[in-house]
Amino acid sequence: MRTKLVGMNLEELKALALQAGLPAFSGKQLAQWLYEKKVSSFEEMTNLSKAGREALASQFDTGVTRPMDCQVSSDGTKKYLFPVETPEPGAVEAVMIPDADRKTLCVSSQAGCKMGCKFCMTGRQGFHGNLSVSDILSQFLAVDEAKDLTNAVFMGMGEPLDNYDAVMRAIDVLTAPWGFGWSPKRITLSTIGVLPALKRFLDDSRCHLAVSLHNPFPEERAELMPVQKAYDIRDVVSLIREYDFSGQRRVSFEYTMFAGWNDTKRHADALARLLKGLECRVNLIRFHRIPDFPYETSPDGVMELFRDRLSGQGITCTIRASRGEDIFAACGMLAGKHKTN
Ligand code: SF4
Repeated sequence: MRTKLVGMNLEELKALALQAGLPAFSGKQLAQWLYEKKVSSFEEMTNLSKAGREALASQFDTGVTRPMDCQVSSDGTKKYLFPVETPEPGAVEAVMIPDADRKTLCVSSQAGCKMGCKFCMTGRQGFHGNLSVSDILSQFLAVDEAKDLTNAVFMGMGEPLDNYDAVMRAIDVLTAPWGFGWSPKRITLSTIGVLPALKRFLDDSRCHLAVSLHNPFPEERAELMPVQKAYDIRDVVSLIREYDFSGQRRVSFEYTMFAGWNDTKRHADALARLLKGLECRVNLIRFHRIPDFPYETSPDGVMELFRDRLSGQGITCTIRASRGEDIFAACGMLAGKHKTN
């Protein structure tokens, strides 16, 4: 397999330019073409000599993979299907969510997932492999909106902290001045709370954090989220309390609402106690039904009461609008499959 350029940092691109017989400063030109101008072929890199472009094309691959399918929701949300080179070749989804003047990309970091959350279509399929940096960044570079994206959430298929090195390399490219030049404030990483990697992420990055909480009671949370048995949500919240979220960096807690399972006053009060004094937001999410799973979403009225009970105890809380449900692009519905109708 040929070496791919997407995902390389400036130093690596300089070394690669020299290897192809180009001057070292061509490394910076390569970074500009790939990450700023977002071209996908050497042919388009017109300030490199023709001989240089041919030398590059004969030895390397830009690494930008095109999507093989795209579905558009009635609300404008778009779901792209990308082929990935995991050990078992597969496909992952990236979802572009337009909202007023924002275009947010929800990115996948793994094909399938090991974490086995029972309410999640991705978790149902098991694990097929980690995405490479180029597979992660291709999602940013090959969508129709590549040049207009304003934000990114690592909230698609997979647990991003379970593919730490590739995800952090992708974030480096996104935030470096020689890369996309994004502020870390434009990026949110979502995790179910894989503690050791979470600590590294909090130390190594300034991106926002979202934690999938879903139930404040450890025994109940463990029923639907096996990770709870390894990493207790109370320890996750304790770790987060050691970091400063009172300024530019934000932490939110995602709380999918299941009728009768986690939507009672008892749950709201326990959640408020767990998060007391922490500068954070709770996002309540409607559950989107998946086959062979017994729970349904909580009714709107119950969600509103839950929100008000949390707000009354000083916790900032919003009910999040569902996007892309008609194309199975909403939270928990990504399965990496072609449409079947
Ligand atoms: Fe994996 Fe996230 Fe689905 Fe859990 S919710 S199985 S961590 S993709």
